[in-house]
Amino acid sequence: MRKKVLAANWKMNLLRNEALDLYSNLDLALLNFQEIETVLFPPSIYISELQTKGNLSLGIQNIYFENKGAYTGEIAAAQAKSIGCTYVLIGHSERRELFLESDDLLKKKVNSALAENLKIIFSCGESLEVRTKKDHLSFVKKQLENSLFHLSEKEILNCIIAYEPIWAIGSGLNASEQQAEEMHSEIRYLLAENYSNKISEQISIIYGGSCNTSNAAQLFACPNVDGALVGGASLDKFSFIELAARLK
Ligand code: PEP
Repeated sequence: MRKKVLAANWKMNLLRNEALDLYSNLDLALLNFQEIETVLFPPSIYISELQTKGNLSLGIQNIYFENKGAYTGEIAAAQAKSIGCTYVLIGHSERRELFLESDDLLKKKVNSALAENLKIIFSCGESLEVRTKKDHLSFVKKQLENSLFHLSEKEILNCIIAYEPIWAIGSGLNASEQQAEEMHSEIRYLLAENYSNKISEQISIIYGGSCNTSNAAQLFACPNVDGALVGGASLDKFSFIELAARLK
């Protein structure tokens, strides 16, 4: 059976005390949802003050692909692991667009993360322009082929795929159930085609993009939506706990 996953991307938000406060409001509450894997992606400078507990894991929002050396400001996978991370987020559209991260760079980050036994939430998704041209399925297919599908069966099982249409991120305009299910079932088909049905059925595919307490129930009811990667709504403890309750 596939894991249900609820992940929180805090991005570059929250001062230290606010982050510690939010965490302390979530850690015990999330223990009530043992059947869900919850992953928090706080700003990296706070991670060593937080703890992995039960079904609550910590992840880093970004890594560099080199192991160590003269890369001012960057963080290696092994360093993230050494402060308690079990996950890394790779391929977020903000990294792709604002920091010009290419499919090739993302592939190197994927390899580096897995070499250090970090699990990956790999984000993919199309712009509005691509969707308007009805090229969204082939666009996402290329993203996955270019950065993820070189992995072995054993390696891909350490990945969760997040479908995050760029037009839905932070816009208040979520994908409809039909749009989400169309893409999630296509991704599952691609996993079966590149690996096997058995592998495809084991990999969680989560949705991201303005997911909140008003639309989560409909999205989570889609057969191929196994959870969510949440930005804005993850900064409010009540919303995030309610999302966990909806996913349960
Ligand atoms: C995200 O940035 O991954 C995200 C899903 O953000 P939001 O929920 O705010 O759209």
